[in-house]
Amino acid sequence: MNSRIIEFLKATVGAAQVTNELIDLISHSTDASGFRHRPEVVVYATTTEQVSAILKMVHEERIPLTPRGAGTNVSGEAVPIKGGIVLDLSRMDQILEISLEDRVVVVQPGVIYADLNHQLAPLGFAFPPDPSSGKVATLGGNVATNAGGVRASKYGVTKDYVRGLQVVLPGGQVMRTGTRTMKSSSGFNLTQLFVGSEGTLGVITEITLKIAPKPTETYTAMATFQRLVDAGRAVSQIMRSGAVPSVLEIVEKNCIKAINQNTDLNLPEVEAVLLTETDGFVKEEALFQMNKIIETLRANGALEVRWAETAAEAEALWSARKSSYPVISRLNNTTFGEDITVPLSKVPDMLKALEELGAKYDLILPTVGHLGDGNMHPHFSYDRTNPDEVQRVKKAEKELYHKTIELGGTLSGEHGIGLAKAPFMSLEHDPVAMETMRALKKMFDPHNVLNPGKMNLEACHG
Ligand SMILES: Cc1cc2nc3c(=O)[nH]c(=O)nc-3n(C[C@H](O)[C@H](O)[C@H](O)COP(=O)(O)OP(=O)(O)OC[C@H]3O[C@@H](n4cnc5c(N)ncnc54)[C@H](O)[C@@H]3O)c2cc1C
Repeated sequence: MNSRIIEFLKATVGAAQVTNELIDLISHSTDASGFRHRPEVVVYATTTEQVSAILKMVHEERIPLTPRGAGTNVSGEAVPIKGGIVLDLSRMDQILEISLEDRVVVVQPGVIYADLNHQLAPLGFAFPPDPSSGKVATLGGNVATNAGGVRASKYGVTKDYVRGLQVVLPGGQVMRTGTRTMKSSSGFNLTQLFVGSEGTLGVITEITLKIAPKPTETYTAMATFQRLVDAGRAVSQIMRSGAVPSVLEIVEKNCIKAINQNTDLNLPEVEAVLLTETDGFVKEEALFQMNKIIETLRANGALEVRWAETAAEAEALWSARKSSYPVISRLNNTTFGEDITVPLSKVPDMLKALEELGAKYDLILPTVGHLGDGNMHPHFSYDRTNPDEVQRVKKAEKELYHKTIELGGTLSGEHGIGLAKAPFMSLEHDPVAMETMRALKKMFDPHNVLNPGKMNLEACHG
């Protein structure tokens, strides 16, 4: 990058916030995906004015710029695939306001998810989406990916809580979207356009989030199944019964095996375990929901249902689900997790399709997932030095996406598209929808400088 640009960046944010040290370039060249490309310079912004000046400059100079929070996304969304600048927003980390009266918080994008909830907990409130990466991921990243978590079936995902944003557009204009009111029917919903936009349309510099009172009572239970499809059917039946689980998670047999090989949890070697939780503000409310769920689990072939009588027992039931990611990553030299989501009625079909896919391509697909909202994370775990296995994984992945769309599902329930799923966008979105997304990208970012190469938005830029 030429020295004039580096000097401009230093004058804008201060010399200490600009680095092209090799260690910084390498650490900003990747995220939690397998993709990697080195930027030429990393810049830490601390104010909206700085972001505005930098976006004006990159727009005029046609320099690629990739916004970054904590770099925990798993689809290559924060990888600067065209080089240029990585704009790291993790130092914009102030909670600007907590208003219980308005039930909102106003935060900068670099605030870590868990830090916000740590401040809200003593007040009896929470920001509920709860991604498993919450101890590290930033709220800017959560908004830009529309992050979700284990409680989405009851509490929704990030998009359900974003009331307003301050966004800097390529060109440097600062725009406010939305309001802090409980509702608004005023104009286009520009706020939601930026939720899940993966840093391709603008850089978020302030977020107004709805918060919710935190339930005080929970019940936790676990059920085992000898047939995967029964577990899927139980989930569909629970959701149609009118019960409201706050958690409804699956751990399937390949994952259970891996947990038993790598921990001393000694889980029953069954085809699937479902973990469920209900909550409320009085015990009776949570208990009523749990009784309804357990009745349905039993009616749908559960072998055994275990209740947690104490917080320690609940924690023990959770440990199977919580240990699954680390043990899956130990199975082979390469692992990546999918994020497909299907309508609730199609959960049993998708689970069956996963079994068939594994058998057809001779692959193991350890699967966990938020079945209460139809979101599954089958993992491809394979040896990347074995070309035959790599080919089988590629074919199986393509077939998985086709099956998901055939069932009326989506490529991503919470992780986003980034680089990983960009080639498959037109499977899910028809030509008119793809052209509309590309036209929006071109309108906001005519020179394609902002996070270029993501989400298959390139066609409009030649
Ligand atoms: C172990 C593990 C568990 C995970 N569990 C979950 C989970 O349960 N649920 C879930 O949804 N995800 C999960 N993730 C994925 C990831 O944590 C989320 O996608 C998270 O929202 C990313 O936040 P981040 O701060 O790391 O953003 P980054 O990875 O840095 O960036 C993600 C995207 O947001 C853009 N971006 C970041 N900040 C801004 C900004 N201020 N303005 C504009 N664009 C911006 C980036 O350009 C990029 O496109 C998990 C990841 C790991 C590694």
